[in-house]
Amino acid sequence: MKPEFDIVVIGGGSGGLVVAAGGAALGARVALVEKHRLGGDCLWYGCVPSKTLIKSARVAHEMRNAHRWALTSRDPAPDIARVMEHVRDVIAQIEPNDSPERFRGLGVDVVFGDGHFVSPHAFEVDGRRLTAKTFVIATGSRPAVPPVPGLDGVPYLTNETLFDLREQVPSLVVVGGGPIGAELAQAFRRLGSEVTIVDMASRLLPKEDPDVAAVVQAQLADEGVRFRFDASLARAAGQRGDITLAVKGTDGREEALRTSHLLIAAGRKLNLEGLSLDAAGVAMHEGRIVVDDRLRTSQSHIYVVGDAAGGYQFTHLAEHHAGVVLRHAIFRLRWTRPSPVLPWCTFTDPELARVGLSETEAKARNIAHRTYRFPFADIDRARTEGETGGFAKILTDAGGRILGGAIVGPHAGELIAELALAVAEGLRAKDLSAVIHSYPTLASISRRAADQRLKEGLTPAAKAWIKRIFRLQGA
Ligand SMILES: Cc1cc2nc3c(=O)[nH]c(=O)nc-3n(C[C@H](O)[C@H](O)[C@H](O)COP(=O)(O)OP(=O)(O)OC[C@H]3O[C@@H](n4cnc5c(N)ncnc54)[C@H](O)[C@@H]3O)c2cc1C
Repeated sequence: MKPEFDIVVIGGGSGGLVVAAGGAALGARVALVEKHRLGGDCLWYGCVPSKTLIKSARVAHEMRNAHRWALTSRDPAPDIARVMEHVRDVIAQIEPNDSPERFRGLGVDVVFGDGHFVSPHAFEVDGRRLTAKTFVIATGSRPAVPPVPGLDGVPYLTNETLFDLREQVPSLVVVGGGPIGAELAQAFRRLGSEVTIVDMASRLLPKEDPDVAAVVQAQLADEGVRFRFDASLARAAGQRGDITLAVKGTDGREEALRTSHLLIAAGRKLNLEGLSLDAAGVAMHEGRIVVDDRLRTSQSHIYVVGDAAGGYQFTHLAEHHAGVVLRHAIFRLRWTRPSPVLPWCTFTDPELARVGLSETEAKARNIAHRTYRFPFADIDRARTEGETGGFAKILTDAGGRILGGAIVGPHAGELIAELALAVAEGLRAKDLSAVIHSYPTLASISRRAADQRLKEGLTPAAKAWIKRIFRLQGA
């Protein structure tokens, strides 16, 4: 029997929405199943609210420090209820893009409900059986909560509840010093909370190179964020406004922390339960879907995109996955793979962005490389902005091909795009050096880092040769 749909998408977040809209635009008959509301983590509990909160926190920080720009510093007296209402407003501005009305208008059959596979070719939602040539699992992830004694009885926050806060937050313990924990810790500190980050690692942002992460850690420490590294949450007790935590160090020592609020940002769990993947014949391994390098599960007509695929968790990656699946499902370009070049940014202040090979990876994998750094302190625009902390670094192979880069400093998330293009296109440092960058811009830092390689290339012998040929008189 002919399937009812070309594509059934399960999960209406960043990845699922792009598959659904793209599929419908290309003429496919598409059903989109969502168990809660369209928009996913990014819109409701992730990128959009966190970046809005970070902006308010940044304005508060700059008001307090206005003297640095020769103005009068002021206490912004942050009111969490007002800030969170502002966060809601920004979500409401973006929400119509992801609304069921918009998707129905595009011709997508939007089905709300909690469904499951009944066979490899059928997904059932509230008694309705959806059959399709292609299925796309795009169910995302949720916060993982560690099994800590007493935690169940404590009103802890996660990214799913944090933005509902309407009361002041005198103190906040953040469990997890990864990107989510670091961004939110700094934001709450700037909004007036006493903040402590607890992490099992021995430093902040442990997945980033130590030298770039250290710049962010130093800034947070300077702003008064406290750290308990090499430590984990051992017990929790109390109620909202008065929570007592036992934090245990790797040395076995325990410390009691009292806090009004507790945020768990200690990793993510994939939303795969309840889908009856076994009925679909989709193979699993250690709680993850077995997925090939083209996003296909063990059933080649069932794809998995975004967080649910079990790799890096970013909105731009979920959207990129969606594009790959559309090429497979509609144009039958089955050889298309996701790009291996993935930039990302942690939106602390300073921002930390990276792409391609990191120095840590290069060393661990014994990849021959050279590293070139340039500090924001020597970029004129960084001086005029009063934001001179941080640096850019570029990794090249012996021939100067750019393998990766990291930028920690102002607007690093924007600046990394040039390095992403360089890595994706296999450009060399000299190619970046040859590009004219407007003056005065922060973007010129990538060129200046690349210039370091040119300078290095000028050996004393080469310099002597140039002097002789061109009859120069310098030292
Ligand atoms: C605090 C925070 C900040 C972040 N900041 C950034 C950032 O700045 N930049 C960035 O790139 N990424 C950021 N991320 C990550 C980003 O939000 C995710 O990577 C992205 O949303 C993943 O998209 P997705 O389509 O895989 O899942 P989602 O967008 O989460 O969508 C999954 C959808 O599936 C639905 N669903 C779940 N189970 C079922 C089911 N059984 N049936 C039907 N529907 C189901 C869910 O309700 C949801 O709507 C952040 C995440 C967090 C938590």
